[in-house]
Amino acid sequence: MSNPSARKLNNGLNHTPRKRFGQNFLHDQGIIQRIIDEVAPQPGQHLLEIGPGQGALTGHLASVGTRLDCIELDRDLAQFLVGRHANDTHVTIHQQDILKFPIESLEPTPHSLRVIGNLPYNISTPVLFHLLRHHASIDDMVFMLQLEVVQRMAAGVGDKNYGRLGLMLQYFCEIEHLFNVPSAAFTPQPKVSSAIVRLRPHRVMPLQARSVDTLQTVIRTAFNQRRKTLRNSLKTLVSDALFATLPIDASQRPENLSLADYVLVSDAIYDEAQR
Ligand code: SAM
Repeated sequence: MSNPSARKLNNGLNHTPRKRFGQNFLHDQGIIQRIIDEVAPQPGQHLLEIGPGQGALTGHLASVGTRLDCIELDRDLAQFLVGRHANDTHVTIHQQDILKFPIESLEPTPHSLRVIGNLPYNISTPVLFHLLRHHASIDDMVFMLQLEVVQRMAAGVGDKNYGRLGLMLQYFCEIEHLFNVPSAAFTPQPKVSSAIVRLRPHRVMPLQARSVDTLQTVIRTAFNQRRKTLRNSLKTLVSDALFATLPIDASQRPENLSLADYVLVSDAIYDEAQR
């Protein structure tokens, strides 16, 4: 029986967008072209698309003729894409969950990965952290995300959106908010605004914490109580005596500290634990 809410694709696929997979498909050709222009894929590169869906970006990426791996969770859509790219030997469709996909299985190529994706918004943060474990093998990532998430990712000290997500991502990457995308560009239209962001992992790390786990703990603990002073919010981790050894005023709030300041606090905690 045909489903009236399904969108019929050119090849005859009837697909009803699945909310649980965060399916909002891009149909605005102008926006699709702007994203492709920002990615500007080149022959010889290794592309990885996350959540290709009905293939709004995939066809453009595949047309470059360079290696393209696509990871799509939805079995019907993965099958549709396998059919569409049956003659493209440089394209591989993996029907898998990106959060379980072993990125390292793609790594033994001579090229770093260029990652592209209109991500399901409900899993965007875990996907970013999953990929960052492989930051040394990634050239750049261009993502469509919820606008509010992009604002948090790009926020600097003093910005109302400044916090844990931005600090941890900026530790690993340069972040560039490229442009906003109206909800009307999608079918069905999402309830939130969207934006395109580029993350470029640092080739030379500008800051190097002695322990990234400790840095993460410090930042999480500080921003769990962002209205409190650092002395209070970090009291389980940093004693007054340890604070006294640091060039940081403990009466400030978490949002006043730069990433470099957080690395200083983290290293002091780490060194103290090693003594
Ligand atoms: N790229 C397409 C576009 O721009 O029209 C689709 C974007 S849609 C927002 C997100 C896509 O990610 C859907 O096709 C969905 O099935 C897929 N997806 C959802 N969760 C996923 C996961 N855990 N791993 C891989 N793909 C996933």
